[in-house]
Amino acid sequence: MTARILDGRAVSAAILDRVRREVAEFTGEHGRTPTLATVLVGDDPASHTYVRMKANRCAQVGMHSRRIELDAAIGTETLVGRIRELSADPDVDGILLQHPVPGHIDERAAFEAIDPAKDVDGVTRASFAMMAFDEGGFRSATPGGIMALLDAYDVPLPGRHAVVVGRSPILGRPVGMLLLARDATVTYCHSRTAGLADRVAEADVLVAAAGRPGLIRGEWIKPGAVVIDAGYAGNTGDVEYAAAAERASYITPVPGGVGPMTIATLLAQTIRAARDHQTRRVVSVP
Ligand code: NAP
Repeated sequence: MTARILDGRAVSAAILDRVRREVAEFTGEHGRTPTLATVLVGDDPASHTYVRMKANRCAQVGMHSRRIELDAAIGTETLVGRIRELSADPDVDGILLQHPVPGHIDERAAFEAIDPAKDVDGVTRASFAMMAFDEGGFRSATPGGIMALLDAYDVPLPGRHAVVVGRSPILGRPVGMLLLARDATVTYCHSRTAGLADRVAEADVLVAAAGRPGLIRGEWIKPGAVVIDAGYAGNTGDVEYAAAAERASYITPVPGGVGPMTIATLLAQTIRAARDHQTRRVVSVP
């Protein structure tokens, strides 16, 4: 078997087309442009690239992006203060704090300074709780993108065994919850999991989110499984692509699979935040 490609570039392009139309409609109707604020701390070249890509996509769909770049030496208090200002700013609809921040900063405290109504990257506890209770709210962007990709290819989930390798708060943990909400039976694996190969071999749907290039061997993949590789380290995923593609029914390429879906989800959630924000602005005007 040679797997079908889950083409994140094509699916994300369709989502961004829809977002572009919605942004034009919003701007025409309300006389202002939806705005995403991106906050970047420090000089990490990969983080700079990610933020630039997000700003470019904003421009492509007609959204404003406001880039805030802060020195690596700032402390938690300064970052929290800056994010609180954005949370209170009536001209900002969505806020993205680029992860990771330098190690001396309390990233959780900084995430929690984001108003949940502007948490378009789905990183606050409030967003996580709403997602866990299946009550809407903004999804963590990469997990949201993974679900949109599975849906675009009508991958059935109810009753299937989903194995997630990784349990980070922004990726592994939330994607498992979203799969559970869709009635998959979910197993989490992590760095302390014994017998990773055996767990992976049980997966009808595998989400690799460990950030360890080539960790998942092609021969571990169950024939016919759906393989989502969220890992990304220098254009290499967590899964041995060629060997896995021989066994899987569907597989994401790296790059061109999960990555573009993350940005599309972020922008789709930003236009949604702008609409909700606009409603609140109108309601609060006497
Ligand atoms: P992270 O915070 O470092 O978490 C990695 C997770 O993988 C942890 O839960 C860790 O387990 C687990 N892990 C590490 N080594 C393992 C091993 N040998 N066996 C099993 N599990 C192992 O990373 P992250 O932020 O979730 O990101 C993971 C990957 O996704 C990275 O490559 C990142 O670049 C990529 N990513 C891609 C996108 C995108 O848009 N494409 C977005 C976000 C992240 P413990 O919990 O036990 O430590």
